[in-house]
This record gives sequence, structure tokens and C-alpha cells, in this order.
Amino acid sequence: MQSKDLVQLAEQFGSPIYVYDADKIKSQYNRLTNAFSKVEKLRINYAMKALSNVAILQLLKEMGSGLDTVSIQEVQLGLHAGYEPEKIFYTPNGVSLEEIEEVNAMGVQINIDNLSILEQFGAKHPNVPVCIRINPHVMAGGNTNISVGHIDSKFGISIHQLPHLVRIVENTKMNIVGIHMHTGSDILDIEVFLYAAEILFDAARNFKDLEFLDFGSGFKVPYKKDDIETDIEELGKKLSKRFNAFCTEYGKELTLIFEPGKFLVSEAGHFLAKVNVIKQTTSTVFAGIDSGFNHLIRPMLYGSQHHIDNISNPKGKERFYSVVGYICETDTFANNRRIAEIKEGDILSFKNAGAYCYSMASNYNSRYKPAEVLWIQGQGHLIRAHETFEDLLKNQISLPSEVTL
Ligand SMILES: *Cc1c(COP(=O)(O)O)cnc(C)c1O
Repeated sequence: MQSKDLVQLAEQFGSPIYVYDADKIKSQYNRLTNAFSKVEKLRINYAMKALSNVAILQLLKEMGSGLDTVSIQEVQLGLHAGYEPEKIFYTPNGVSLEEIEEVNAMGVQINIDNLSILEQFGAKHPNVPVCIRINPHVMAGGNTNISVGHIDSKFGISIHQLPHLVRIVENTKMNIVGIHMHTGSDILDIEVFLYAAEILFDAARNFKDLEFLDFGSGFKVPYKKDDIETDIEELGKKLSKRFNAFCTEYGKELTLIFEPGKFLVSEAGHFLAKVNVIKQTTSTVFAGIDSGFNHLIRPMLYGSQHHIDNISNPKGKERFYSVVGYICETDTFANNRRIAEIKEGDILSFKNAGAYCYSMASNYNSRYKPAEVLWIQGQGHLIRAHETFEDLLKNQISLPSEVTL
């Protein structure tokens, strides 16, 4: 989709607004399945925490995707969007035994990531097919916020505890059907991924009745100019070959599963906000927009750099701007960034706004959350309305009059 389409959508639906390009989501999905076309049984489970709008879930369902969920509410949203329970995986961290049992009763594949719950669940439900999340302790990326495979991470069962894990499985006679890992976002290096895969294969050799191996996600997409992205085609070539060899050794055609979030939806998203004010100081020119980290928290939370275009004046002479929000706290989107000359009222477009943007939005400062639009076959469809004052009051209860304040 083009800048003029985005400008038109901001006019039509108002700002701030998230716009998602359906074609981009489809092409990323196809890229991934094509890269692994040599694997007989491939399954993609979209990690819906990245972007959980029901219309997006339905689009990916049409593509043939399954779902990766991390809460019972995500499972419910998936079912609401029309997914069969068998197409849903549940990969939580730190949830109660009761929630895991509840999700299991819905017919969803559960994935357990700690020994305590594994032992309790196995003792109570030895026949239920269970997947185990392993932590291979592989550093991905280098930013500790997003590398969940390292030694002091809270995710998964440490590979160093494998003997203990095997003992629990033998004692409870529970039914282990899958091994899973997710080393965290932003895998730069294919060799790191392949190294982690070997650890997963080693773990898999301890279990006789596996049906699938789940390699999680962590595929990197480019955010700013010259960013490296995971070479999916190269990974597909190398991992497919290695996976097929493992299946031969194991004596069974296993299903290979990936659960990408960012890879499928990040680049499809555009966040559009209007410039309220240009503020010139002695050192900086600020462009203040009608949004803040309440709508897009990634720059403040992770230091992420989202590319920003002035789509109202794309051919304008570039100048340096610090783009900031309207929240009464520091909320900087960009520091001294070159952007085509900005005037008050212009619309700025933030790239890579599909993943972990709307889904992390809040009502901080009592602001409304943005609307969402799906761009499909040259047309914008509203898939979430702008909030209203009623939304801020929902669930708030006035104190009864007899309570003295
Ligand atoms: C968040 C998450 C993903 C998706 O990660 P991306 O970096 O968005 O691809 C996959 N699996 C699990 C278990 C997750 O928690």
C-alpha cells in the first residue's frame, strides 16, 4: 500500500490509527511456508500476542495458520475467531495448574514450562498429550529484555534439568507428544538457531512417542535502514534438511512447528498520528503528536526505532526532529531524526507497527486507545472503533452514598 492510501485512511477514520496491510501478512506467511516446503508436515501457529484483533486472527486462519496463545483469554479469542481447538497451542509461563487444566479441557494442546506443574499435571492426567518447553540456554540477540533462552531466564525447563524431567515423565507415565523451545525475539544468526535446534533434537531422543517439534520463533525483521533480518530462505534450506534427517533417525515423520508473531505482522502495520505542535527550543525541534507510549510503547520499553515518514509532505526537504508524545512523562519516539519538513497538522506514519504495538496499548493519561483498520483489496475496513468516554468508565463503580469520604 502507498503513502497516499495512508493519508486518505487517516482522513477517513481519524487519528491516531493503526492500519494493517493484509497482503503483507499473506506474503510473509507464504514466504515462511515456501522456505520449509521440503518438510512434509509443517505447521505455523501465529503467536497472537503480537496482534490479537479478531479480524487478523481470521485472516491468518484463512491462510491455514494455527494459533499460539499464552493465556486462557487468548484461547477464548481464538475460538471466537473460529479456530478449531486442535489448531490452538497454549504456551503460557507462570500460570496456575487450574488454568492449564481448564485450557486442556477445551481441547487445546498444552505446553508446560516448569517441573513443578509438570509433575502435578502428570500425576493427575497421565493420558493427556503434553508438550514440554525446554530452555536451551542460547543467547539470541544480546539485549537481555528479549533473550529468553539464557541461564537466568524464567522461561522453559532448563536443558540441564533434563534427567529430572525424564524421571518425572517415567514416574507419572505421562504422555509427552512434543518438545518446544522459544529462544526469544531477534535471532540474528542462523547458526545460533541451528545450534539451539541440536539441543532440541538431543532432548527429543529421550521421548519415544513424539508427534511434533516446536522451534518457537524469534525471527528478526528489519526496523531501520541497514537492519539485518533473519534469512528465512537460508534457514529453511538448512533446518529442513537437518529436521528431515532427524525424522529418519527417530523413525517417524514428525511435524515441524513455528510460532512467529513479529515476522508475520510487524511490517504489515502502520501507525498514523497527527502532529499537534512544533516546538522549537535552542537545541531541538520537537514534533509533538496526538499519541504517546500509551499507544506505542516499544521505543520507550525496548529502545526500538520505528522508521517515521511524514506522509503529508513526503517530498519535503529533510530536517532534524525529535518526535515526542503527549503523555505527561518522557515519551520519545525518535531523537533528532531526519524527517521531511513537518508542519502542524501533518500525519506521521510509523513503520513496523503491526507487532506488539496495539496489543500493548493502554489508557494511561485517560486517553482513548486508537482504532484499527485492515487494508484489503485496495480498501480500508474498520476492525476496531476508536474508544469513547464510556470505555473509560466501564467497570468503574461509584461508591454508595452512605459511604462517607
Ligand atoms: C511471543 C512468543 C512468540 C512470538 O515471538 P515473535 O518474536 O513475535 O515471533 C512465539 N512463541 C512464544 C512462546 C512466545 O511467547
